Amino acid sequence: MYIKKVIIEGFKSYKEEVSTEIFSPKVNVVVGANGSGKSNFFHAIRFVLSDLFQNLRAEDRHALLHEGAGHQVVSAFVEIVFDNSDNRIPIDKEEVRLRRTVALKKDEYFLDGRHVSKTEVMNLLESAGFSRSNPYYVVQQGKISSLTLMKDSERLDLLKEIGGTRVYEERRRESLKI
Ligand code: ATP
Ligand code: MG
Repeated sequence: MYIKKVIIEGFKSYKEEVSTEIFSPKVNVVVGANGSGKSNFFHAIRFVLSDLFQNLRAEDRHALLHEGAGHQVVSAFVEIVFDNSDNRIPIDKEEVRLRRTVALKKDEYFLDGRHVSKTEVMNLLESAGFSRSNPYYVVQQGKISSLTLMKDSERLDLLKEIGGTRVYEERRRESLKI
């Protein structure tokens, strides 16, 4: 499974809908002048995949909506198109689309066009091997040293997330609750 394409509209510096070319499953390089939106592009990906951007406050949503010449867009979205030919995402489709929308008052998720809850998305991503709180697949500056400095128990938690097993531990805990 890998990200095949990203489509963005109204998010930060991206006003009009833009779509990347089809990515290679291997190495892709994003280049651009200073201020052209490279960091915003990776922010957009994390906005969909990471649970670091949950429970957004009104001002957080405001900052994500494109603003230019005193005018702010009313809504934005980021859509990630996954190549799922290896069925790592437990949906029987070669291609899976996950979209997160944001407006001043709310933000929502859509899976292949169907409105889904945040919990459903996070569970799905986690069983597909995307860790949530510590997204190892986006290695930001300083992350490598934090990996080496982690406690063993933290590294074990990370491995459980990467292996996609933590979600089952959580479900087990939930099922034991009366
Ligand atoms: P660098 O090479 O300097 O790291 P970059 O390509 O990573 O640059 P970004 O940080 O992604 O660039 O983009 C910065 C630009 O995005 C700034 O000009 C900033 O004003 C603009 N920007 C951020 N949020 C919004 C928004 N909500 N509306 C419009 N523009 C925005
Ligand atoms: Mg940058």
